[in-house]
Amino acid sequence: MKKPKIVILGAGYGGLLTTVRLQKLIGVNEADIVLVNKNDYHYETTWLHEASAGTLHHDKVRYNISDVIDRSKVDFVQDTVVEINKDEKKVILEKGEVNYDYLVIALGGEPETFGIKGLKEYAFGITNVNSARQLREHIEYQFATYNMEEEKNDNRLSIVVGGAGFTGIEFLGELTNRIPELCHEYDVDFHKVKIYCVEAAPTVLPGFDPELVNYAVSTLERKGVEFLIGTAIKEAVPGGILVAKGDAEPYEIKSETVVWAAGVRGNSVIEKSGFEAMRGRVKVQPDLRVPGFDDVFIIGDSSLVINEEINRPYPPTAQIAMQQAELTAKNIAALIRNKAELENFTFDNKGTVCSLGEDDAIGVVFGKKLTGGKASFMKKVVDNRALFMIGGAGMVLKKGKFNLF
Ligand code: FAD
Ligand code: NAD
Repeated sequence: MKKPKIVILGAGYGGLLTTVRLQKLIGVNEADIVLVNKNDYHYETTWLHEASAGTLHHDKVRYNISDVIDRSKVDFVQDTVVEINKDEKKVILEKGEVNYDYLVIALGGEPETFGIKGLKEYAFGITNVNSARQLREHIEYQFATYNMEEEKNDNRLSIVVGGAGFTGIEFLGELTNRIPELCHEYDVDFHKVKIYCVEAAPTVLPGFDPELVNYAVSTLERKGVEFLIGTAIKEAVPGGILVAKGDAEPYEIKSETVVWAAGVRGNSVIEKSGFEAMRGRVKVQPDLRVPGFDDVFIIGDSSLVINEEINRPYPPTAQIAMQQAELTAKNIAALIRNKAELENFTFDNKGTVCSLGEDDAIGVVFGKKLTGGKASFMKKVVDNRALFMIGGAGMVLKKGKFNLF
């Protein structure tokens, strides 16, 4: 009998963990496993704010996929997914195509720009290794160029971060540590540097514990961030952005560096492939399959799972993507062994920690509030845990964060 073919798209938290769990769970004679990913490396999306600010080299946030997969069980294809043909059970890639019996879509998310004019052209994102490297180098270039100019362009030293969600705040934590270093390296007066954070909602980190939010805001303000709260980015233009408080007239903040960290949507492949989606995310069944397509699972940032307690979607996180991956591997093993019943996904929320730079953070872990060194310690534990779950102790030793105190 022909072996079923399991195809996994994306080697981020969801896809790579599904792959390494499947390679343990099923034997070579039971199924063929194919993993497709754009790059030959996995990156820690949750560390990209560090690479973007330049506080951690981008090589530290990535590792080779071949280091964690068993090539005797998994066929790795380095290619970009263009579209999925669900009816023909076929994935169209840039350089070929691959058929599947079972498909796991784990292609992650993309920045949500809400159709705001100019963002795609003039703003930077914190999305992948390439965008992180570009942003770090762009900021350095602004500092390096500032001192070379006869007529100083102060806008080179003005940085705007759009969105005070977790990504925006974590990036600001790193940036405010990096700026004094950059000032020293490039002989720039620290007082000339301006850092703005523009947030449309009435508070920073909307929905998070107010006491912890206050801690984060006062820490970042002390390090030079000016928060513009209840203020929305309306348009990005060359050399700046237009913002408006409520219904007031928009005004311009001049800046050569605008970072858009104001939300994510599902991967564009989802909508291109004709899946019914909300902002690129597919509302999956409790067993994480796509309604109407029993052979297709979607996990991670392109999936949407409702938190029944509040009747709203869970925010897209690595924590959820990894829990979904573990369940999906189990469910696929059950399917190829012809077990009728699949398990349903339940989210086990272990908490949230938001870093504020190298040695400071805020968080709620197992229901307990943490700030400062303790929270920062927990953040590094969480970061190392992700490495461990996919790559084992060896990967933690290679890439882990050991400056725990
Ligand atoms: P990803 O891990 O992003 O992986 C997607 C993979 O698919 C990538 O390897 C990508 O290269 C590949 N891919 C994409 N498109 C294609 C294509 N067309 N063809 C082939 N391959 C493709 N969550 C937390 O729980 N805790 C945190 O502390 C945290 N911190 C974060 C910090 C930052 C700066 C950011 C940006 C996010 C953070 N998140 C955090 C959210 C978390 O990173 C995401 O929810 C998580 O990465 C989603 O996992 P995923 O598997 O869906 O996608
Ligand atoms: P987000 O959606 O959580 O936050 C985006 C912020 O941008 C919101 O506060 C929103 O009000 C604001 N915003 C939207 N439009 C705006 C506009 N026009 N002008 C100004 N502000 C605007 O997005 P995120 O921070 O990128 O996070 C994405 C996901 O990743 C979330 O699920 C988050 O929980 C997760 N994440 C988690 C961590 C962590 O756990 N440490 C870190 C980073 C990201």
